Amino acid sequence: MHKNTHADILILGAGIGGFEAFRTLNKLNKRYNLGKKITIVDRNNYFTFVPMLHEVAAGSIEPTHATYPLRELTNDTPHHFVKANVEHIDPEGRLVTTSMGKISYDYCVVALGSGPNYFDIPGAKEYTNTVRTMRQALKLKYDIIRELERCDEDGLHVTVVGGGYTGVEVVGQFCDLAEKEVRHLYPNKRIVISLVHAGEELVPQLPPKVRTIVKARFEKTGAHLFLGNRVSAVSENTVTLAGGTELKSHITIWATGFKNLAPKFLGATWCKNDRIPVTKHLHHLNSDRLYAAGDIALCYGSDDVPFPQLGEAAHEMGVYAARHIIADIRKTALKPFTFHTHGTIMPIGDWFGVAVIGKLVFKGRFAWWLRRTVYLIFMPGIVRKLRIVFDWTFHGFGFRHMVDPSHE
Ligand SMILES: Cc1cc2nc3c(=O)[nH]c(=O)nc-3n(C[C@H](O)[C@H](O)[C@H](O)COP(=O)(O)OP(=O)(O)OC[C@H]3O[C@@H](n4cnc5c(N)ncnc54)[C@H](O)[C@@H]3O)c2cc1C
Repeated sequence: MHKNTHADILILGAGIGGFEAFRTLNKLNKRYNLGKKITIVDRNNYFTFVPMLHEVAAGSIEPTHATYPLRELTNDTPHHFVKANVEHIDPEGRLVTTSMGKISYDYCVVALGSGPNYFDIPGAKEYTNTVRTMRQALKLKYDIIRELERCDEDGLHVTVVGGGYTGVEVVGQFCDLAEKEVRHLYPNKRIVISLVHAGEELVPQLPPKVRTIVKARFEKTGAHLFLGNRVSAVSENTVTLAGGTELKSHITIWATGFKNLAPKFLGATWCKNDRIPVTKHLHHLNSDRLYAAGDIALCYGSDDVPFPQLGEAAHEMGVYAARHIIADIRKTALKPFTFHTHGTIMPIGDWFGVAVIGKLVFKGRFAWWLRRTVYLIFMPGIVRKLRIVFDWTFHGFGFRHMVDPSHE
């Protein structure tokens, strides 16, 4: 590219919010025969379903199951995908600077997500792994396999920091790996898994019944819980707790904290709490052509509490922003955006999950199966869906693919 181009509608970020904004815009653009050209920009040439990355890291699913090639998204459409880094957004000039050139726009949806927050804890950034991108998930997977190959009988010590959804899901997966693959393929070795959480309760956002289920599950699988403990420092092989306790940790996984990144892209006056403040129609308070969706958007519900930084909210915001842009082009009205969760489903390892739907809480295989089914419904393309179903069905009959091709 490397030259100035124009997009009628520009989507920045092809994660959950941006991907869904594209799909909805493409559909409505066709339905109303509007002839608008959409450009979607991402630093990767694939969409990543972030909530499944811990399963990639533990080898429960393959990278192809949690990604979608963005060139397939725009294939057979009049629209474009641009692989580039977004560097700056100028809402007044309606111009976006990317590593591949500048793109002017009539409408823009910003869906660039968020990043990890290390809370300035010494060593946290340098010595921990996260599972926010496919590259990080694969690095973690290969690190685990490499360390398993070289650890002694004392075992591989893995520490997960954070007892929210992510931390609990990561521990669940690694407990499964320890129980199945490590026990059979590395009979003289073991994985010692610790979970450090600042609060007294795991997944505090979920009802007490769920917390009890999670705790009981971890007690059964042998994970060591350090609740009500803060991490004060991390080094290459140690996690230090605020009270001074030192945990041996060959691999530390950072699963806590969101860092909002809007000021990286926009001038400070366009941001609030490092996010993009939007109206109930999801466009910026001071620009009705700049929309935001997903983690980067700051939108308050009727109770003056911001909508959560969750995949489900990002998905619905992406759909709404797209619908509102089309309504604006067609000069029709749309009711304000509201978000009500349909429920939470949390997998804890393979074939075990907890689901909270309305007042109902259920656990076990059905909850786990339901989550994978919901994901498959979201994935575009019948052939892709079938390939994934096939792989997942047969996954249960063998071992995870315990190879480390990351170095010779
Ligand atoms: C490990 C983990 C587990 C989670 N589990 C759950 C869960 O179980 N349920 C749930 O509801 N939510 C979960 N979440 C939260 C959920 O993943 C996010 O809320 C959701 O992905 C936000 O969607 P988004 O579109 O805002 O951002 P993302 O999905 O993160 O997408 C952002 C996109 O922007 C691109 N991008 C970023 N910066 C640039 C740049 N400078 N230039 C170009 N492209 C860029 C990225 O490549 C990415 O494609 C989890 C999050 C994590 C980290």
